Amino acid sequence: MTASSARRRGQRIGVDLGGTKIEAVVVGLDSAARGAAGPTSAAGAGPASAVSGPAPAAGAGDEPRVLARARVPTKRELGYEHVLEATRALVFEVAKQAGVDVIATPMGVAMPGSVTTRRPDGGRSDVALVKNSNTTCLNGRPFHADLARAVGREIAFSNDANCFALAEATWGAARGARVTFGVILGTGVGGGVVLTSDAGTPRAWDGAQGIAGEWGHVTLDPERGPACYCGRRGCVETYLSGPAIEREYAQRSGVPRSLAEIAARGKKEDDVARTLLDERVELFGRALATVIDVLDPDVIVLGGGVSNLEQLYEAGPSAVARWIFNDELATRIVKHALGDSAGVLGAALLP
Ligand SMILES: [Zn+2]
Repeated sequence: MTASSARRRGQRIGVDLGGTKIEAVVVGLDSAARGAAGPTSAAGAGPASAVSGPAPAAGAGDEPRVLARARVPTKRELGYEHVLEATRALVFEVAKQAGVDVIATPMGVAMPGSVTTRRPDGGRSDVALVKNSNTTCLNGRPFHADLARAVGREIAFSNDANCFALAEATWGAARGARVTFGVILGTGVGGGVVLTSDAGTPRAWDGAQGIAGEWGHVTLDPERGPACYCGRRGCVETYLSGPAIEREYAQRSGVPRSLAEIAARGKKEDDVARTLLDERVELFGRALATVIDVLDPDVIVLGGGVSNLEQLYEAGPSAVARWIFNDELATRIVKHALGDSAGVLGAALLP
C-alpha cells in the first residue's frame, strides 16, 4: 500500500451527494500522507500500528486542509438529469474557487446505496447502475459513468457510510486504528469497514458485491419485527434509526416527540422514554456484538443523529459486552469527531 500512500499527496476533490444537499470540497493532502512517514511506521519496530489504543499524537499532517467548499440543494424531485448537471456544475465551481484543474485533480464521490449490473427489467447492463439510493431518481441509472463523462475524468465512488468511516479513521475519532467499523445511525442505519495498511493508509473495504458493512439490514427478529423497506422484518434499522425510535415512542406514549426530547426525558421522570431507550441500547449491544464477533474492529465510531444519545456510550459498551464471544470488551465505542463533514472528506480520500 506504499503506492497509495504516495498517491495521497496534492489536492483531491470530494463530493457528498445526499438526499437534500450536494456538497463538494477541495482538500489539500500534501502533508496528510502520515502513513508513509508517520510516527508509527517511522519507529521501525515492525507493525507498530498493530495495536489498539490511543491514536498517534497529532502532527502537522493530521488535519484535513479544506481549500474550498461549496454546496447546493439536491432538488431530487427535478429528476436524474438535474442531479447530474447540478453535481457536475458544483465540481467545477469548487475547483474554480480553489484554483485547481478538474481534469488533473483526483476525485471521489460519496453517495447512499450501492451499484448493480442488473437492470430493472432483469437484463444485464455493461456499466454499473445505482441501487438502493434514497435519491430514487438515480436508481437503475448509470450515474457513475455519466458523471465521469460529464466531468471529463475518472471518479472513485463509495457508499456514504464507507466515506464516513474512512474520514474518521484518517482524521477523526478512529485515528490510528487498524480496523475501523463506522456506523451511521440516522434516518437510516448504515455501516462501513475501513482497513489500515501496515504503511498506515486507511482504505474503505467495499466487499465483493459492495455491501460490506451494511449492518442496518441484519435482521434481529425476522418473524415479528417491524416491517423494513428492504422487504424483510426486524432489521437493525427498524429499531435503531431516529424515525424508528420516535415512532415507537409516539405509539407507546401517545405523544409525538423528537429524538432529542426523548433522550432528555429518558434521563428524567419519563418512564416510557427510559424503558424504550434501555431496550434500544440493549438491541444496539446485541447487534454490534455480531459485528465484533465477525470483524473484531479496534474502534467502532458512531455518526448520525442517534449517535448523540449519551446512553449509547454509558450503557452501550456493557450491552455489547454481554453478547460478544469474549469475557471482556476491548473494542472502543466512540462518537464521531468530524461532524457533518465526514462524508465529503472521506470522498476526497477515495481516489
Ligand atoms: Zn431492512
